[in-house]
Amino acid sequence: MTAESTPGLGAAYAATASEAYRAALAVIESVEPRIADATRKELADQRDSLKLIASENYASPAVLLTMGTWFSDKYAEGTVGHRFYAACQNVDTVEALAAEHARELFGAPYAYVQPHSGIDANLVAYWAILATRVEAPGLAELGAKHINDLSEADWEGLRAKLGNQRLMGMSLDAGGHLTHGFRPNISGKMFHQRQYGTNPETGFIDYDAVAAAVREFKPLILVAGYSAYPRRVNFAKMREIADEVGATFMVDMAHFAGLVAGKVFTGDEDPVPHAHITTTTTHKSLRGPRGGLILATEEYAPAVDKGCPMVLGGPLSHVMAAKAVALAEARQPSFREYAQAVADNAQSLADGFVKRDAGLVTGGTDNHLVLLDVTSFGLTGRQAESALLDSGIVTNRNAIPADPNGAWYTSGIRFGSPALTSRGFGADDFDRVAELVVEVLKNTQPAAGPNGPSKAKYTLAEGTAERVHAAAAELLDANPLYPGLTL
Ligand SMILES: *Cc1c(COP(=O)(O)O)cnc(C)c1O
Repeated sequence: MTAESTPGLGAAYAATASEAYRAALAVIESVEPRIADATRKELADQRDSLKLIASENYASPAVLLTMGTWFSDKYAEGTVGHRFYAACQNVDTVEALAAEHARELFGAPYAYVQPHSGIDANLVAYWAILATRVEAPGLAELGAKHINDLSEADWEGLRAKLGNQRLMGMSLDAGGHLTHGFRPNISGKMFHQRQYGTNPETGFIDYDAVAAAVREFKPLILVAGYSAYPRRVNFAKMREIADEVGATFMVDMAHFAGLVAGKVFTGDEDPVPHAHITTTTTHKSLRGPRGGLILATEEYAPAVDKGCPMVLGGPLSHVMAAKAVALAEARQPSFREYAQAVADNAQSLADGFVKRDAGLVTGGTDNHLVLLDVTSFGLTGRQAESALLDSGIVTNRNAIPADPNGAWYTSGIRFGSPALTSRGFGADDFDRVAELVVEVLKNTQPAAGPNGPSKAKYTLAEGTAERVHAAAAELLDANPLYPGLTL
C-alpha cells in the first residue's frame, strides 16, 4: 500500500492540483491574507505531524476542490425533483449521483446524503424512527391524516408520546458516542436512556448481557456503533436482540464506514443488511468531505427523506458534490486495498504495543483503532496526550471502561490507522510508531502542581521530544502527504 495506490491521493494530479491551489490562495490572499496564510500553515502542519487521531483522515484533492464551488450559493431544500426552491436541476444531478454511489457502495435500498455532519445524521434518523413508529400510528389512532388537522389537546398528547420513548446505546466509557442518548447531547434530553457496556473482564461486548438489558428496558430504538471500541460487532446478533422486543435497530458506523465500504467488514459484521437505519460520517475512515450520510430500508426511507426541513437546514450542495466524488473513489477496487491496509496497520500497531508490554483495552484490535491503557505507565490520558504532542505525535485522550480518572483526564489514549495509511504507511511503519509512543510514555513522569499531585502536569525526560520528533520526521518524509503538491 502506498499513497500512489490510495484512490485520488497519489501524485497523478499533483501538478494540476498545485496550480489550482496556488490560484485559489492568490485570490484569497487579495481579500484576507491572514486566511491564506493559515491555510498554507494548516497544510504544512498536517504534513509534519504523525496524525493518529482515529476519527481523522486526508481527503483527496479531487474531494477537497469539489467543495470550493458555486454549489455553495444554492438553496435546495427538499429532495431530488421535489424542491421548495427554483432552478435546482444541477443540485438534483449532484444529490442523485451521491445517493446512487452510496446505495451501490453499501448495497442499501435507500441513501440520504444531506446531513451536514454525523450528529445531524443521527438526529434525522431518530426523528425518522419517531415519525414512523410513534407519530404515524398516533395520527391513525386519532383518525387524522395530517398533524395540522389535530386539535391542540390531541397534538399535545402526541407530543408527549414523542417525548416519552426509550433508547439504548453503548455506554460512553465502553466506547459509545454522546449522540447515543447522553444527557449533554440532545439525544439524552429526547429519550429515556439506558446503556449496555462491555464485559469488565475482557472488554468485549457481551451479547447475552446486552440481550438481558434490552429485554428488561424494552427500548424503541437499539443503537450499535462506537467511537472508541477496538473490536468488531456482530450486527446480525444485535438485530436478533432488537427484534426480540420489537426495537428499531440503528447502527452508527461513523468511525468504521471505510471498513464497511472496503469490504473488510462483511456478513454479520456488515451493518447495512442488518440495521433498519445506518448512519455515518463521510470524513473519517470513508475519506470523504466533512459530512453525514444515512442508509435506510424502504420502510424508513420516506421519513428520512424529510430530514430537511424536519431537522436540517438547506443542504450543503457543494459538500454533497464532494460526497459523490469521495464515494466514487471508494467504489474503486483500490479502496478495498486501502481499507484492508487500515485494518492490517491497526493490527501491527496493537502488536507493537503488546510486545512492548503496554496495556491495551481488550488486549488488541480487529478494526481501525487501538485503545492504550496508560495507567500501565503510571499516567493519566491527559498527561500522555500532552507528552506525545510535545514529541510530534497527535492523538487524543479517551476514557477507558470504568475509568479511574473520569471523562476529562481519562486513562486512555486512542490511536487510529486511517490517516497515516492514506499517506502510505505500512505495517513496519506502524510498529515503529508503537516503539516511538512507548519511548515517549516511558520517559514521562507525573508531576505535582502547586496543590499536590496533578492529573495534568508531567515532565518529559530531556532529549526525548527532540529524538522522537526526528524519528517521526523520517517516517513522514518517507510517506509524504499529497506527494508533488506545492503551493
Ligand atoms: C464522530 C462521530 C459522530 C459525530 O460526527 P460529527 O460529524 O462530528 O457530527 C457520531 N457518531 C459517532 C459514532 C462518531 O464517532
